[in-house]
Amino acid sequence: MVEKQRDPWLLTPGPLTTSASVKSAMLNDWGSRDSAFIAINAQMREQLVALAGGEGTHVCVPLQGSGTFTVEATIGTLVPSDGKAAILINGAYGQRIARICDYYARRYVTLESAEDVPNDPAALDRLLAQDAEITHVVAVHCETTSGILNPIEAIAETTARHGRALIIDAMSAFGALAIDAAEVAFDALVASSNKCLQGVPGMGFAIIRRAALEACAGNSPSLSLDLHAQWTAMEGNGQWRFTPPTHVIVAFHKALQEHAQEGGVAGRHRRYQHNLDVLVQGMRDLGFVTLLPDELQAPIIVTFHVPDEANFVFEKFYARLVDRGYVIYPGKLTVADTFRIGCIGELGEAEIHGALQAIADVLAEMGVANRAPNDA
Ligand SMILES: *Cc1c(COP(=O)(O)O)cnc(C)c1O
Repeated sequence: MVEKQRDPWLLTPGPLTTSASVKSAMLNDWGSRDSAFIAINAQMREQLVALAGGEGTHVCVPLQGSGTFTVEATIGTLVPSDGKAAILINGAYGQRIARICDYYARRYVTLESAEDVPNDPAALDRLLAQDAEITHVVAVHCETTSGILNPIEAIAETTARHGRALIIDAMSAFGALAIDAAEVAFDALVASSNKCLQGVPGMGFAIIRRAALEACAGNSPSLSLDLHAQWTAMEGNGQWRFTPPTHVIVAFHKALQEHAQEGGVAGRHRRYQHNLDVLVQGMRDLGFVTLLPDELQAPIIVTFHVPDEANFVFEKFYARLVDRGYVIYPGKLTVADTFRIGCIGELGEAEIHGALQAIADVLAEMGVANRAPNDA
């Protein structure tokens, strides 16, 4: 009954299911000074700049660690000690950026909205008009806490009109939601190997406006998270300053090839959007209710309300889905009791249908007849 032959499908915001070819790209050992490895690294960096439309204006600085390491490194490198950030918050990742500013003793103000409400560019406009000390605006493209899509184009337009710099946490969006540096003005965009680009976890990267980065020498109070130092060292000899995650990089290089073969950002977006549509329709057919209205929902991860029924115990639901080969994600919201299902990674309609069938079976087993939330 329970197939244990293959890895479970990861319906999560990352790490996520990768292709067999991406996994097998890790079966070789590479020396960090090996010219073949240096060429792969250089190509990866060029491809990432091109994906962001930053050729000629922006550079790619990769960094070891999970995505948060690169968010932290970018704030610490770009926002000087006498700078001040305006942080747009509607979820846990925006909150994390404020915590980073606390650690780095960078001044900041926040502009908060509820987790099911997008960032408000008009409020940002008023804030920037009244506070001339703000040097940087920091925003999250897709807030993975809920799966909400923030209006990054309007945020970028507002920030540029006031002559301030924009830093985008595009971790869960980059590679699937289009962003073009020629149209959406940003000083830095941060993402990682293991989300929509479908590599394995272990590195993040920032796409940074070259002219802005050149002015950042000595800003960072951290040795290993100083992106200006990371960049100048890599420009110098093509190598990483400290041990590179070689297998992660080679797998990521392969994942970028597969991204291009799928049709780049547009192709990946199409598949994820279809995954989303099938998932949401199927869950609604089962009686579940989404947190977000369809127009605010990014095709990345969907938040569902927990059914208002005593028979529904999330831990049991989760464990029985794992037994059937599907890993979902708990909720992270403060506004409502929820759980999340991702639609990104190397999976398509067949896997979404498989997950929906498993969910229907588990609900029947648990005796959960009513799948709607308490309307209170
Ligand atoms: C995943 C994610 C991060 C980084 O999380 P890590 O666990 O450090 O990789 C940051 N911001 C957003 C919006 C994310 O989805």
